[in-house]
Amino acid sequence: MSSHTVHAACPHDCPDTCAIRVTVQDGRVIRIQGDPDHPPTHGALCTKVSRYAERSYHPERVLHPLKRVGPKGAGHFVRVSWEEALDDIAARLKDIARRDPQAIVPYSYAGTMGLVQGESMAGRFFHKLGASRLDRTICSSAGGEALAATYGAKVGMHVEHYAESRLIVIWGSNSITSNLHFWTYAQAAKRAGAKLVCIDPRKTETAEKCHQHIALMPGTDGALALGVMHELIVNDWLDHDYIERHTEGWPRLRERALQWPPERAAAVCGISAVEVRQLARDYGTTAPAAIRLNYGMQRVRGGGNAVRLIAILPCLTGAWRHRAGGLLLSSSGWFAVAKAALQRPDLLGSRHPRTINMSTIGDDLLRESSAGSGDGPPQAGRVPSGDRREAPEGPHFGPKIEALIVYNSNPVAVAPESPKVVRGFAREDLCTVVLEHFMTDTADHADYVLPATTQLEHLDVHLSYGHTHAMFNEPAIAPLGECKPNTQIFRELAARMGFDDPCFADDDEAIARVAFAKDVDFDALRARGWVRLPLRDAPFADGGFPTPSGRCQIDAPDFGVPDHVPNYECAASAPALAERYPLAMISPPARNFLNSSFVNVKSLRDIEREPVLEMHADDAAARGIASGALVRVVNDRGEYRCTAQVSDRARPGVVNGLGVWWRKLGTAGTNVNEVTHQQLTDIGRAPSFYDCLVDVQRV
Ligand code: SF4
Repeated sequence: MSSHTVHAACPHDCPDTCAIRVTVQDGRVIRIQGDPDHPPTHGALCTKVSRYAERSYHPERVLHPLKRVGPKGAGHFVRVSWEEALDDIAARLKDIARRDPQAIVPYSYAGTMGLVQGESMAGRFFHKLGASRLDRTICSSAGGEALAATYGAKVGMHVEHYAESRLIVIWGSNSITSNLHFWTYAQAAKRAGAKLVCIDPRKTETAEKCHQHIALMPGTDGALALGVMHELIVNDWLDHDYIERHTEGWPRLRERALQWPPERAAAVCGISAVEVRQLARDYGTTAPAAIRLNYGMQRVRGGGNAVRLIAILPCLTGAWRHRAGGLLLSSSGWFAVAKAALQRPDLLGSRHPRTINMSTIGDDLLRESSAGSGDGPPQAGRVPSGDRREAPEGPHFGPKIEALIVYNSNPVAVAPESPKVVRGFAREDLCTVVLEHFMTDTADHADYVLPATTQLEHLDVHLSYGHTHAMFNEPAIAPLGECKPNTQIFRELAARMGFDDPCFADDDEAIARVAFAKDVDFDALRARGWVRLPLRDAPFADGGFPTPSGRCQIDAPDFGVPDHVPNYECAASAPALAERYPLAMISPPARNFLNSSFVNVKSLRDIEREPVLEMHADDAAARGIASGALVRVVNDRGEYRCTAQVSDRARPGVVNGLGVWWRKLGTAGTNVNEVTHQQLTDIGRAPSFYDCLVDVQRV
């Protein structure tokens, strides 16, 4: 039997963006392997994606268009033809658009990170329609915008160079679970004598394998960075020449940091002053010293300011002078993505639709129309950002949301404060269309479910936010059943809406060819599966940050000088609330899930077994809770049911609710977002999932 192999790329929301080789025999995928020639990921895939074929050929895959026949959320559907589904959807959208196209809202995120199957044809469709714009904030916008405010873009070290670092501070990242290939380089550095320090409220698999674990309270990372700065100043572990030549605004931050002796930082962080001093000594006296920052720590009210403070550290010590020194949060800003060519915002013409923040979809689906359409998002939940003071809550929302088109996302499971999200999606007057692979919690609430292709069945190109290689994904097999790529679904909808601009006729290859504005030769990319960007080894050894001045912006336009911003929900900000709900909850991903993807892959779910809440022995004993007990995690927003696991992975005062389970596969139809809230971060308008007070009770 003949077989062949194609180059693919992992589409999931993970910094590694692995290169994959897919072997196909007689039209069926028989093997999925990492590409050993791809330098940053060198042939290793994580357990989750090694089972990608199982996911694609899953018996519960949606293979035909489905139309709802029961009440919203009940999951009762009948099979219909594409013609019937698309004709009816287009008719409904036309009807709404006649009144106000802003009543139609796209909802998408990183179900695929592909530039073609993500926001290309979809972006064109919604721009032409004049639909509401979506502020895609649910994961990384606090840290991303904070990094860009500081360095000028989302840029950082090459991941490969961590192997040569002498000190690696892994800050807010469970790398073994969510950044596997970075971990390989960190281990190489460790074998060569480097010290590894992990900063994380949870004693993760990664923390266990580092030399030191600093288990700070959630949302106190900015205070720790200020305490470290204090020690860098008083011990003169500063690179004055680098600060002078390549930063702006240091004197004001220096003054602020001097107010943060280790004792003060330690008291806020819930750690010892010795730990602050030791971290500062290690960081100030070791070269090259590298920080691997990840997005976990920015899911709190002050997440943006904390990222800014941490990103400034390598500029103070001159760590950027070495290729194995500096910081990496995201490398996506190195890629010149031709966003306008992909998404065609010019199709809006002179219209300026409002923006809906995906992180407040629970509230927004429950809003009535209010005067004015507005040009920006409602202001609810905005908070002071460092020196900046925000405007109070805004007055207008515009038209009530009448239609929601969901693709590459599962908001009913992943959006914060799910009791409100579920109520919104259950609205019988809401027209909901979901492009999906499976009947997720969100698909259960759809009027139409449209079967979408997986990465094995469509073409795409990818950037990475963890390395500096552009990636190609060749379709390995024909679409299963009646599935269609997202691009094709939006093309066919566009035709029914009467959109005849030539860009709606572009095929996927034509779209992929324009995705990168420079540095990537399409044919070379396709032939090899990946292309490395032409970048310097030590990108900021001589300054040259992509800011207007070329300097690191310690004092940034719009944001001022960063400061520690305490959590919304902590004893300092809300003492009465902290008395009623004394435990801080974070909700990091379970090891075998990726956000809410893979929860329905039985072999992976069997490893996780059930939704779990990790508790410290003292907190469990105080509540009469033993390992294995069914518990309710409660606050004023709702109640999440799961199984307690008494474990030293949780520090005293913090519980770890591992996510993100599909509600219908969880305990009592709940998941961890029953208790999270919709207040937004200081920078980037993101949700503050890990800024959440709860109590835990035995059921
Ligand atoms: S999820 Fe991450 S580690 Fe796993 S295959 Fe995809 S890119 Fe690689």
